[in-house]
Amino acid sequence: MDGRKHYGFVLISAILPLLGLVVAVVLLWNKGVWLSDLIVFGVMYVIAGLGVSTGYHRMLAHRSFKTTRPIKIFFAVAGSMAGQGPPIIWTAHHRRHHRVADKPGDPHSPYQDHEPGILGALKGLWHAHMGWLFDKSLSSDPIRYCPDLVRDRDMRIISRYFLPIVAAGVVLPGLLGLAISGTLRGFLAGMLWGGLVRFFVSNHITYAVNSIGHYFGRRRFATPDESRNVGWLSLLSFGESWHNNHHAFPRSASHGMRWWEVDISAMVILLLEKTRLASDVIRIDRDRQERRAEGLLTVGGGRLADSAPDRPLAERKAATVGVADVE
Ligand SMILES: [Zn+2]
Ligand SMILES: [Zn+2]
Repeated sequence: MDGRKHYGFVLISAILPLLGLVVAVVLLWNKGVWLSDLIVFGVMYVIAGLGVSTGYHRMLAHRSFKTTRPIKIFFAVAGSMAGQGPPIIWTAHHRRHHRVADKPGDPHSPYQDHEPGILGALKGLWHAHMGWLFDKSLSSDPIRYCPDLVRDRDMRIISRYFLPIVAAGVVLPGLLGLAISGTLRGFLAGMLWGGLVRFFVSNHITYAVNSIGHYFGRRRFATPDESRNVGWLSLLSFGESWHNNHHAFPRSASHGMRWWEVDISAMVILLLEKTRLASDVIRIDRDRQERRAEGLLTVGGGRLADSAPDRPLAERKAATVGVADVE
């Protein structure tokens, strides 16, 4: 994104949600919050969160399942309401992230500058979390990374009208608040809680998958990056935080790969499949997972295990384990 569009994006993805949060905290402090506000927040959080997780990420970026045109449009519009960018741009950045995860060219790696020490670590985490959003020069060419979406007329239209859809994502919860409470106060509070505060919480959860999910947590699979599984983020991220599983098997519709790995998006996809609204759902059988998990013991994985050009050949490990089908 460039020019004025980029400033508009930064405004809705970072600045307005923060201002909304400040107002909401002041209201909370003064006990100016109603149950209806929290209901509106929850409804919009689920709609936009599934839009990003099930829609943008698993359906568009990784083609983990196929669905009907109305549902595809619904998910892409719901994902746009999250305010994280138009579907075509979001997908281009994300597919690029998978191709060069934690290596030069990754749009949001916490290892960007490779500076030593705690300050370098904090700088890297900030960059991966949201610092990269402020980089006006960053662009991932949609023709190169997602020609399938560029060819899709519905996705082109939704991407073009991204900002009005984001605005609708603020007005809609206002109307919901009005419908529940029947008051102007309910309308305004609905826009605040279901719009701005919801942007803030849901976006920071997504950003945390990019920052924390490449820094802290457990690795089950040897991937040529630093992706991690972060259990405590799984519920609020709709399963996105099983991020090492995801980098090992990017096309898998399920990111949770054990019964205890909560993955609400996978449940939604299963529900769509059971009702014949989704097909061609990509699943990874347990044998394949086990074979891949053994790779962590023998290979180790990680960004430095890859054939980094500045490392002698003898030091390079067989990190080809993990260069799987990306999208
Ligand atoms: Zn990642
Ligand atoms: Zn992904």
